[in-house]
Amino acid sequence: MHNFGIDKLDSEQETTLNKLFMKVQVSLVEEVGQSAFKSWLVSLRLNKIENNILYLSLPSSFLSDWVIPHYGNKIDTICKRVFVGIKKTKIVVNSKFKEKSNNLHDFVDLTNKGTFNYSNAHSPLDPRFSFHNFIVGKSNEFAFAAAKKVAEINKVSFNPLFLFGGVGLGKTHLMHAVAWDIQERNPERKVVYLSAEKFMYEFVKSLRHKDIMAFKEKFRSVDVLMIDDIQFIAGKDSTQEEFFHTFNSLVDQKKQIIISGDRSPSDLEGVGERLRSRLSFGVVGELHKTDYELRVRILKSKVSENKKVKVDNDIIEHLAKHITSNVRELEGAYRRLCAHVELVNRPLTLDTVKQILHDIFKANNKNVTIEEIQKKVSEYFNIRQSDMLSTRRSRVVARPRQIAMYLSKICTTKSLPEIGKLFGGRDHTTVIHAVKKVENLYKTDISFSEHIKVLKKSFI
Ligand code: ADP
Ligand code: MG
Repeated sequence: MHNFGIDKLDSEQETTLNKLFMKVQVSLVEEVGQSAFKSWLVSLRLNKIENNILYLSLPSSFLSDWVIPHYGNKIDTICKRVFVGIKKTKIVVNSKFKEKSNNLHDFVDLTNKGTFNYSNAHSPLDPRFSFHNFIVGKSNEFAFAAAKKVAEINKVSFNPLFLFGGVGLGKTHLMHAVAWDIQERNPERKVVYLSAEKFMYEFVKSLRHKDIMAFKEKFRSVDVLMIDDIQFIAGKDSTQEEFFHTFNSLVDQKKQIIISGDRSPSDLEGVGERLRSRLSFGVVGELHKTDYELRVRILKSKVSENKKVKVDNDIIEHLAKHITSNVRELEGAYRRLCAHVELVNRPLTLDTVKQILHDIFKANNKNVTIEEIQKKVSEYFNIRQSDMLSTRRSRVVARPRQIAMYLSKICTTKSLPEIGKLFGGRDHTTVIHAVKKVENLYKTDISFSEHIKVLKKSFI
């Protein structure tokens, strides 16, 4: 097997090679599982064999940047086993834009992991998160339009795009959609998406390995940089400093930056003033809580995608009415229903739905406020409600206050800083401390855990 490209083979040889490649695909499914295969490897194609090197292709560098570091070795091992005699396997990017280019520059050696590769800093992109399956309503239309705009234009017209909102409202979905869209329009553009945690991790790693220059180079050579959940670098001064420099350098080079966070730039505590004001320079788009009408449309779109499970409109309406916290929870409830139908093989009725999801409905229906929690907890421990906000540190009031903070965290959808604010303007780290303290006592102290159980019951 050498020195031929597949296009020069007679049809019998071609069939043999294709059969062998199917074996590779089957082994890959076995090795990595159906869902990873579908997400990342389904578009892997046999390209040619030349000089005992097997060339495979993927349609975009976006895919290959993820596939090579994560599955490169596996693919290589399997291919060597199936295509006996080949020396190694290489992946080539074969997008429609550069079908003819067989430029060596496009090949990435699977076995050559040591060389610098910016892509190993990526976080993976979810193939399900695209613009076309993002349902637009009043609560998210501005954020959606801004994200679309960033993806469509090559020229940077505002920088950064800052998307913010509570959990499960579609920030990550929109960022991935921008990445996929840019990649499709222009595969040459280097798009890097990663969580702020990952950014921090990469930074610390580069410090440890003393290759901070490579780190700087890596992030400053991208065309579009996306950092998800920026609140995670709050309080991490050196990471923030580095991010700030990267940020400025990219802005100077007129490169696009997209950031998400759980609150607006001006509310980001633990983030330096300079960075905060930089973050609000561009367009700030909020993802608000969804309304009933949008939740119905999101569910309907999910239902229409799944041909196997039929869900009637009265059920959809019931879910949309009662699961109001966020879209992630709504999806989770829907997935639970689907799993149930597939398992018992009986159509859904509203009554079964109520049973299957009773815990979710219960948690959503209570819509308890922090003030109610403070009131209940103060009554229970017989202290003044004002002590929930006061600075008194004596155990008699401090412990109930911590319990109330803990309950606020688990029974409401408020963020830690919001909770802190409502407890006399305390810092979010105080709330974290309280939550941890209560969790520990809950595990170690039986009588304490009984109090918590009683209190919890009145809220959930
Ligand atoms: P966040 O990053 O804001 O916490 P995600 O982007 O992870 O939230 O969204 C949570 C889930 O809800 C994802 O599965 C996402 O696809 C879905 N989702 C959120 N908003 C929408 C929407 N408008 N249309 C369709 N799906 C959505
Ligand atoms: Mg997210």
